[in-house]
Amino acid sequence: MEQVKSNIQTFEVGDIEVVKVLDLLESISPKVLYEDKARSAFDPHLDWLQPHFLDAKKSMLLSIHSFVIKTRHHNILVDTCIGNHKSDSGFPQWNDRNGNYLAELVAADCRPEDIDYVFCTHMHVDHTGWNTQLKDGRWVPTFPNAKYLFNEREWACWKDAESKHDRAVIEQNIMPIIEAGQVQWVDNEWSIDDQVSLVPTPGHTPGHCSVALTGGEKKAFITGDMMIHPVQIAEPQWQQSADNDKALAIKTRTGFVEDHCDRDIMILGTHFNTPTGVYIIEQKGQRRISF
Ligand SMILES: [Zn+2]
Repeated sequence: MEQVKSNIQTFEVGDIEVVKVLDLLESISPKVLYEDKARSAFDPHLDWLQPHFLDAKKSMLLSIHSFVIKTRHHNILVDTCIGNHKSDSGFPQWNDRNGNYLAELVAADCRPEDIDYVFCTHMHVDHTGWNTQLKDGRWVPTFPNAKYLFNEREWACWKDAESKHDRAVIEQNIMPIIEAGQVQWVDNEWSIDDQVSLVPTPGHTPGHCSVALTGGEKKAFITGDMMIHPVQIAEPQWQQSADNDKALAIKTRTGFVEDHCDRDIMILGTHFNTPTGVYIIEQKGQRRISF
């Protein structure tokens, strides 16, 4: 139990409670995300990236987690990570997993049946996995009472995808939700309630949306993969290999950093390792984070 608890982190945004529930923490080569960058490209930022976001060898620490948002009205789960027992993910270490994410969720005081809404910032494999779980050989919705908010714009670019890995996402993580009648279709800008809204942040994928939280005077912003690693707070113009439209992604990311610098808005990074909830500040002409 001790170990389960250690993977949970809680944030307060006014009267909203946000709980981070970890599925997997990975250490990966920067080349996976930034094809044209050497490890030395991180050197100007080592003093604030290490040890939380870069290890001693300058490998990137990448966290794959959900945020459970507990508002006055609803329990909302943002991004559903990789999941268990999946196949053909395109990443060998993500296939046929048997992790204890659901136990973590319960330890975070949230049973699957307590979730009212599920929202995936986009439909990539590491954001849709726990949409479903394998029961008696069939993929069924993990959250039996939830409406899953699927963005029509995102689905439009996925539904006819032909690659083996994309088909695996559709067949294992998306279609079972549609077939169960648990989808609520939304179109980009959408408010779940008076405290939680979707914010279009296109580029990583066409229908990518971040999530804005307002708890009284306090605000927070969940990035999704608009920004995968904190180094991009200082270097928003770095190209992410996984971005579908790289120029649009850079424009979106640069605008985001401008708009959120030196403001009292907590940035909850969808792949940011602990401390995960950070603030963008400017120091000596350089953007970086405080926490
Ligand atoms: Zn991702």
